[in-house]
Amino acid sequence: MEDIKMTASKAQYAKLKPELDAAFSVVMATMSLEEGPQVQAFARSIESYLQVQKAVPCGSGSEALELSLLALQLPAGAEVILPAFCYEALPEIITKLGLKPVFADVAADTFILDPAAVERLLTPATAAIVPVHLFGQCAPMQELLELAAKYKIWVLEDVTQALGATYTWPDEQTQQAGAIGHIGYASFYPTKPTADAGEGGTAFTSNAELAQRMQQLISDGMGGKYTFSTHLETLQAAMLDVKIKYLNGYNESRQEIARFYDNAFAETEQIQAPNRALYSSHTYQQYTIKVAPDMRNGLQQHLRDNFIPSMVYYPQPLHLLPDFSNLRYKKGDLPVAELLSQSTLALPMHSELKEDQLTYICQHVLNYVKQNS
Ligand SMILES: *Cc1c(COP(=O)(O)O)cnc(C)c1O
Repeated sequence: MEDIKMTASKAQYAKLKPELDAAFSVVMATMSLEEGPQVQAFARSIESYLQVQKAVPCGSGSEALELSLLALQLPAGAEVILPAFCYEALPEIITKLGLKPVFADVAADTFILDPAAVERLLTPATAAIVPVHLFGQCAPMQELLELAAKYKIWVLEDVTQALGATYTWPDEQTQQAGAIGHIGYASFYPTKPTADAGEGGTAFTSNAELAQRMQQLISDGMGGKYTFSTHLETLQAAMLDVKIKYLNGYNESRQEIARFYDNAFAETEQIQAPNRALYSSHTYQQYTIKVAPDMRNGLQQHLRDNFIPSMVYYPQPLHLLPDFSNLRYKKGDLPVAELLSQSTLALPMHSELKEDQLTYICQHVLNYVKQNS
């Protein structure tokens, strides 16, 4: 059996090598490493993939959020609601821009932002909601957009982890995750679905005025007062423009692997396999199981002892991080996010996992859970 890896970038590169090398050679021949035509070519590819009017590439996912928030021209101190169970860069950027992060609890089954929790947090200062399409599945966009319309607030979708997921409206119409709210954005960091070779991101929108402002901000910001003085590099864009063609294929391979895990864990009550929302496809950027909190760390250690990598996303709910202690949250405020941070574990999940590896992983998970219940 081959060593089990958490991600597949090396194996994926090996398969795409001829195509990627050709794309890199074109860039190197021109030496336009900063704003080569490949950057705009990739922007057009992602616009067409997501069916949005305008994509504005930038230096990272964090910068894409920054760009999106700046484009909204919110007043200082405006409140931005985001899930307490997600990546800590999000509230850091909100804070950095002089806005106030407001953490909402998530749903116990999908681990995604709960619209009812959001509604309870709305105040006259609420300016935006940032639903994060967590682990490969969409947030409940219909409910969130209804709230947004009623209270005149913006919705910025973080589609980093669910690029390629589709959202189904009650009338059966579908839309690509990320293209549904007022602005969407994504990171292409090596650990994310499209996995470029370093930092990269993009924001996108179908609102012409917001698109124009984002474009303007990028031009003005270069070397100026904003942090997104960097931009998507030409080599990264060239790589992404190749990889986006394979995204659906990678997503389908992961769905197949998810079915393997689902079957293996179906009879075991102590393991909650990832829930599939009815309104969204699931691209399984992560396959995150839930176990009893007193079992999670032991399970991870047991897997490690058997050379099986796994990851805890996220070990601390955002509202209890020391960085946000000035907001005066306390333990118990957002109980679902708090429990999830102690009870979830992401198993290896990528297009290159083989059946013998999956069988081995499942056996070790099941053995540990059964022996310790
Ligand atoms: C990684 C990540 C980001 C940040 O992306 P960077 O490119 O590292 O700045 C934002 N949102 C989510 C959901 C992420 O997982």
